[in-house]
Amino acid sequence: MLYTNKCEHTRGNVLTKWFVHRRRINRMHTQDGGHIASAVGALAQRDYQTAGNHYSRAAWSVLTEPRAGRDPFAPDERGYVGAGLQYLLTSAICYRVAGEPSRATHRGVEAVAIAGDLTTALDEPVQQACLEELRADCRVAGGLDGAASTYDTAADAYRAAGDGIENPHRWATSPLFEAAAGPIKQVARSLANGEIAIKWENLHDADPSACGDFLAHRATYKRQRFSGLVERVVADGFLAAPRGTTEYATDHHRCPHCGSTDVNWVAESVLCLRCSRPTEPV
Ligand SMILES: [Zn+2]
Repeated sequence: MLYTNKCEHTRGNVLTKWFVHRRRINRMHTQDGGHIASAVGALAQRDYQTAGNHYSRAAWSVLTEPRAGRDPFAPDERGYVGAGLQYLLTSAICYRVAGEPSRATHRGVEAVAIAGDLTTALDEPVQQACLEELRADCRVAGGLDGAASTYDTAADAYRAAGDGIENPHRWATSPLFEAAAGPIKQVARSLANGEIAIKWENLHDADPSACGDFLAHRATYKRQRFSGLVERVVADGFLAAPRGTTEYATDHHRCPHCGSTDVNWVAESVLCLRCSRPTEPV
């Protein structure tokens, strides 16, 4: 009886985690054609070439129609189309980790061009500054020249938008800005045993009342950190999965590779929080 109760408790716990995780995915959902789930599955297998291919296809899918019925060429205060850029630049990082630098270069060049093109659709000055930040990210991811000066341009654009920015927190939590924060967080956790290595307060200035400076900090922080983090991930040959819904010290999963019982529920995968390999029920 005790065993049965434990099973039911564990099963309920696992289902609750899935429910929380699905709700979070739905909140941010873009039409990636199922390729993000496949990309994360490939990361878990450390097949970075395949992961790069799926991230590319996810990007093209989102860029075509970010959400059902949403036109990528129309203004959008939420900026869902930004996820397409996130996936394209993540594909570039995957290809570099896979030892395919020329393909990474192509993705980087492509992403820089698309980010520039999207400035005709996402026409709020603060969004245009974020697209400039993404252009710099794409240069870092693709191993292209000119990232540092592009980050400077982005920081200047945030400061220029400064007085016109109402509620910078709302912008910073919109899908466009979260898309721009995703890759550096994913790269950083790869080097930090799966933990959150870059927090909100790292990316943003302490004083949200100075709107331009608050957001410009994103660009100056990335200018200092992102390139070096990507170089280390490429040298290590390891890119972690993104962080989804997490649970520490579970009694229901154990990683067969490293023995950790910490779990990362992300896309359609249940992964070890530590090494990003598939974890298994116990
Ligand atoms: Zn593990």
